[in-house]
Amino acid sequence: MQQFKGIAVSPGLAIGESLIIDNEGFRFPHHLVLPTAADGEVRRFMEALDEVAVAIRASRDSVTQQLGERYGAIFAAHLSLLADPRLREDIEKRIREDFYSAEYAVSRTLRGYADHFLKMDNAYLAERVHDIYDLERRLLQTLTGRQREDFSRLDKQVVVLAHNLTPGETVHLDRRFVLGFATEIGGAGGHTAIVAQGMEIPAVVGLGQFLSNVSSGDVVIVDGDQGLVILRPDEATLQRYRKRVEQRRVAVERLQDLRDVPAETLDGVRIKMLANIEFPYETPACLDRGAEGIGLYRTEFLYLAAKVEPTEEDHYGAYAEVVRAMKGRPVVIRTLDLGADKLGFNQDKREEDCNPFLGLRSIRLALANLQLFRPQLRAILRASALGDVRVMFPLISTMDELLRAKQLLGEAMDELSAEGIDCNREIPVGIMIESPAAAVMIDRFVREIDFLSIGTNDLIQYTLAVDRGNPAVNDLYQASDPAVLRLIQRTLEAAEQADVQASMCGQMCSDPTYTMLLLGLGLRHLSVAPSSIPEIKEICRKVTIPQCQAIAEQTLTMQRPREIDAYLKSELKAVTAASDRGS
Ligand code: PEP
Ligand code: MG
Repeated sequence: MQQFKGIAVSPGLAIGESLIIDNEGFRFPHHLVLPTAADGEVRRFMEALDEVAVAIRASRDSVTQQLGERYGAIFAAHLSLLADPRLREDIEKRIREDFYSAEYAVSRTLRGYADHFLKMDNAYLAERVHDIYDLERRLLQTLTGRQREDFSRLDKQVVVLAHNLTPGETVHLDRRFVLGFATEIGGAGGHTAIVAQGMEIPAVVGLGQFLSNVSSGDVVIVDGDQGLVILRPDEATLQRYRKRVEQRRVAVERLQDLRDVPAETLDGVRIKMLANIEFPYETPACLDRGAEGIGLYRTEFLYLAAKVEPTEEDHYGAYAEVVRAMKGRPVVIRTLDLGADKLGFNQDKREEDCNPFLGLRSIRLALANLQLFRPQLRAILRASALGDVRVMFPLISTMDELLRAKQLLGEAMDELSAEGIDCNREIPVGIMIESPAAAVMIDRFVREIDFLSIGTNDLIQYTLAVDRGNPAVNDLYQASDPAVLRLIQRTLEAAEQADVQASMCGQMCSDPTYTMLLLGLGLRHLSVAPSSIPEIKEICRKVTIPQCQAIAEQTLTMQRPREIDAYLKSELKAVTAASDRGS
């Protein structure tokens, strides 16, 4: 048994057989075979070995011809490894004695070698590890005949372990089969994490290198509550986790009773509980959890899931589905927030060499690509004829951007009117507050908008200069940093003064640790991951606003995020314990 600690990004527990999607994304058809199949597996392995040797020699010859002997010699290490009789013996032994499939035997043996090299504290041997991985990749490629795994075609339940999963890949995970996932890279605020929460798949990211310690088929536990991944758990651990799975199920059932009661504080203040979604198919889950509307519809996922550019009709079809499903409840449609880690099918990550989070993303990308933006605006306006639709522009950092976006919206309205197509000409217009610039200039922005929503995922990264997806700086990515709290406070105060509705749709709002603080700062509209609604609602119903205000006041005097988190957690615990005693 081995345990790794990463970043918990999507709650829940998953126990199951692992499916490894490493850098190359290979999937083994079986990891064990019948004893009678061993001869065949050995033959397959030998053939793959020969095939790979031929390919490497061809690469060596062509490189030598083009660049000279020195460069051709790069392949010598691969060839000598391939020719090593010990390698053949070790792999054959695993097939014949342990009944491993050829793929599994290759992977286990070569990864064993790599681990051995890494432990020898010798820089030269450590470098050779890359040759071993490369050889493994080539052999597996030949044996499986496959490139990257197709996530949408799983046929049994698995726990996916990967070096990385992009948000686009994550949306293609089939929830019926993927019990959970864990990745070596990724941070708390990355969109992969957000999608996992939306899809309610337990997930841990930012684990660092751990894939070399596991093989497909090994039993694994992903603990999305505590950020742990346990490989090959022993019986006692398995039992402990099975008990926790059951406790979780009971807790979820208990919270389900709250679906139809309002999120009202003990002193009678009504809090609106809204949901964040990425896809129309999430609306039943929202209603099931008691969502009073959609506070953030991330429409860019229409692009991430598509293989061709979505048309105005595709946009309209998706929006109409959400609006109809929500039956008169408000639906905030956010315009395209593409770019950075959310790349559409036709966007290449390498196109932008500089930091993509500071580049042409979100509203900037939309304003620079009107052939992308205009059809979306028309579709949102058309959907506004079907229900309570509101439009929200992401990542606004200058007044020019907001005014230009509003102008384009007005033009789209005129166009539709000229074509005799219905829309709500009074559609409420809002912006996301996700850049320090927007928060600093909030007193100006509120004059131009009907509502705002604080996007803490980006606000944290831009305020603290911390990449939201980078595990190396995850410790600095803190919602409770006093700088972030001041910007939130300032935004809420300005909104109140201008009588502009303020909500929050960043992940901070889905974290129960911050519920009392946010209520104390004046937040009354909370837009959270659908699965978080019951828990957050339960907290709202256990507190009074003066109690939350006192907590907010105390929090704002504190300096360190860690100190603040500890304080807020202890206050939350006290509230929960008091109400448990009372019930
Ligand atoms: C945010 O930045 O807080 C937000 C909700 O937007 P996204 O996570 O989609 O960038
Ligand atoms: Mg954002």
